[in-house]
Amino acid sequence: MLIDIIKPEYDVVIAGGGLVGGSFALMLQAMLGETSLRILLVDNTSLCVDNTDDVSRIFDARSTALSWGSRKIYEQADIWSNLAPHVTAIRNIHVSDKGHMGATSLHSTEMDVDALGYVAENSILNKVISSGLRGNTQLDVSAGSSVNEVKPVPCGVSLRIDRDNAESCTVNSRLIVIADGGRSSICEKLGIGIKRKTYDQQALICNIAFEKSHDGYAFERFTDTGPMAVLPLPDLKGEHRGALVWTLTEAEAPAIMALADSEFLAALQRRFGYRLGQITRAGERQLFPLSLNLAAEQIRPGIVLLGNVAHTLHPVAGQGLNLALRDARELADLIATTAEAGQYAQIGAYSWLQQYEKRQQADQQQTVMFSDLTTRLFSNTNPLLALGRNMGLLGMELLPPARHWFARQAMGMTDRRTRI
Ligand SMILES: Cc1cc2nc3c(=O)[nH]c(=O)nc-3n(C[C@H](O)[C@H](O)[C@H](O)COP(=O)(O)OP(=O)(O)OC[C@H]3O[C@@H](n4cnc5c(N)ncnc54)[C@H](O)[C@@H]3O)c2cc1C
Repeated sequence: MLIDIIKPEYDVVIAGGGLVGGSFALMLQAMLGETSLRILLVDNTSLCVDNTDDVSRIFDARSTALSWGSRKIYEQADIWSNLAPHVTAIRNIHVSDKGHMGATSLHSTEMDVDALGYVAENSILNKVISSGLRGNTQLDVSAGSSVNEVKPVPCGVSLRIDRDNAESCTVNSRLIVIADGGRSSICEKLGIGIKRKTYDQQALICNIAFEKSHDGYAFERFTDTGPMAVLPLPDLKGEHRGALVWTLTEAEAPAIMALADSEFLAALQRRFGYRLGQITRAGERQLFPLSLNLAAEQIRPGIVLLGNVAHTLHPVAGQGLNLALRDARELADLIATTAEAGQYAQIGAYSWLQQYEKRQQADQQQTVMFSDLTTRLFSNTNPLLALGRNMGLLGMELLPPARHWFARQAMGMTDRRTRI
């Protein structure tokens, strides 16, 4: 619930109400049930909700692939029912390598699930989460406010919160969950470093229209400059639509961006092929520089990092938000069980935070490795590597266990709770 007056003491403060901080807050409240905990979420935007019905009726709307595991998490957090009417199911994933014969397909029927994942437009995700935050009476939400200083104190942290339309204030909390995104000013002030690995690549993002229906297929295509993905989107005004993520080298990105629409469509068609027939339209193009960023520390006494601030991955594997939601669920679970046991003083203690870190370590390492390896392996023109990956794709086609392993990664089912 939006508040005007911030109290001086909280158990948990969440800095950042984006996709990760907002989802975490709702998840935590759902897990707490009757147990009460003083929680404040602070976001420097207005967290306003667009209530127009046509919020998803824009050709260029940006979107995110949610794994089957994320669906399960959102069900637990009472978020899924509001999202479900607006998502597109991914029932099949087709993986191929341009110019080589290796290819494989993964199907939801093989994995015994309704869908391997779902595509949600970001505007809808934001709308559902912001509405949830505004409507939750157990949660204090301060919009238009920034956490600008974090100081360790004996029982947690002391925070300075600057507000757009009110005086700044100081808040004490047992724990601050920093979820302020990839360019975290809070971590910079705390001196928390980033281990960065650049890929010398940029991701070109745009929505495209094509001749044939996608029939619930997502496509991952590996090309000589890097991987390319097309995610299924709902048809709009008679056009079949998909969301394109096209990885380009630093050298070629500006030239591809500068192409006229007709030239761009021709270049894209050459790289992607004709699985969806003729590509008839491309919307507004955006470029994102790509790197793997890992925070040097994810926990300190009274402090924990969640989301892009903890790890920013290559977008083509569609793992960034999905991994962050699994982290968020583990942290929420630890807080809820600690509060239920009445051990409030434990919340934020370093040894207590280490339990969270330990629970998520394997999942984080495996997911980071999966997205990093697939990116590097499939961006390389070395003929031996090309042969290796084609053998790999052919092997996956022939060996169901290998295909199931790949599917579990893509479905976000690598952690101990959702392993199938
Ligand atoms: C092109 C692209 C495609 C992607 N596709 C996928 C995909 O298909 N699947 C997937 O799982 N992931 C995908 N990702 C990754 C996913 O988008 C991110 O993991 C996710 O958006 C991270 O959310 P966040 O909440 O950590 O950060 P953000 O969304 O950046 O949110 C941070 C929030 O904190 C607020 N804030 C900042 N500073 C302060 C402060 N000092 N005080 C208070 N509030 C503050 C900001 O206003 C913002 O609301 C993709 C990423 C890109 C770039």
